[in-house]
Amino acid sequence: MKKIIHVDMDAFYAAIEQHDNDLRGKAVIVGGIKGRGVVSTCSYEARKYGVHSAMPTFIARKKCPDAIFMPVRMSRYKEVSKKVFRILRSITTSIEPLSIDEAYLDVSNSEDDPINIVKTIKREVLRETGLTLSAGISYNKFLAKVASDWNKPNGIKIIKEEDMPNILFPLSIKKVYGLGKKSVEMFNKFGVFTIEDLYGLSKEYLIEVLGKHGEDIYNRIRGKDTRIVSRTTSSKSIGRETTLIEDTTNKDIFKKIIKDYSLQLEQSLIKDKSHAKTVTIKYKTSDFNSHTKSKTMPYYLQNKDEIYQIACDIIDNIYFMKPVRLIGLTVSHIEDSSVRQITIFDLMNN
Ligand SMILES: [Mg+2]
Repeated sequence: MKKIIHVDMDAFYAAIEQHDNDLRGKAVIVGGIKGRGVVSTCSYEARKYGVHSAMPTFIARKKCPDAIFMPVRMSRYKEVSKKVFRILRSITTSIEPLSIDEAYLDVSNSEDDPINIVKTIKREVLRETGLTLSAGISYNKFLAKVASDWNKPNGIKIIKEEDMPNILFPLSIKKVYGLGKKSVEMFNKFGVFTIEDLYGLSKEYLIEVLGKHGEDIYNRIRGKDTRIVSRTTSSKSIGRETTLIEDTTNKDIFKKIIKDYSLQLEQSLIKDKSHAKTVTIKYKTSDFNSHTKSKTMPYYLQNKDEIYQIACDIIDNIYFMKPVRLIGLTVSHIEDSSVRQITIFDLMNN
């Protein structure tokens, strides 16, 4: 049986601002502080007032007028993230970053008790950065992530095989990795809200409504998740997004922004010695609904013109029913370009 740890820094951006500015214990909200910005992260003190990520800042101000609002200082967060990941890498090389402040570690080969490993990580991270994290320990990725979410902040939770399925039953189906927002809405319409409800559905039925993927979901909620921890991961992505000065459906404006972003993503990929297979356009309409449209290529991309061209194809195929307030470009399915070298040129030569 594997030993997987999922670590997740607590309210990362907000915790850094609290730490750097001597604001511990205060409601701190990090995000776009101008008129149309949204909350990026907020401290636990602000969450008590109902503030959460992605909430428009003007609403957050109404909910928690005494909060301290701070702009995003990405370069600082990256600096702290590097320190955290250096500590994680000293524990094991089998590590999969999920974002700037989250990772899976596979410690199956370690003699050490995973609890002791987690305690070491927590102690080192606190010492080096002054910040806390929450960790989940289990025998697969899905359950380790459920566990780290269990008693945030500063929590540790173990999910053992014998805890299953009781521990999952009361949870919302939103917690099931791989079930998108649309699937969750569909199930809710059928009266399926908790994982226990989902348990009542047969494997055949899940395959019928979710496609091939239904079998993964069926297994996952039964504690079976065979995904391995790896540096190259489809969940890794890099992206840029911006809130427009004015809502619009003008595709030329979107393309102009996307062109800049294509260049920035090319630079990031080159710097990271990596390349990507999937291009995603994200947009938020004036009613605050988020949408994404992706295209996955059979080869790897790094070049800005290629990324831009694919992004434009996606935009051309979207019918924007409502004006758009935010537009973004992301590339994912990222791999180390020193490992895999298959590009469009290889394909053309074959
Ligand atoms: Mg976090």
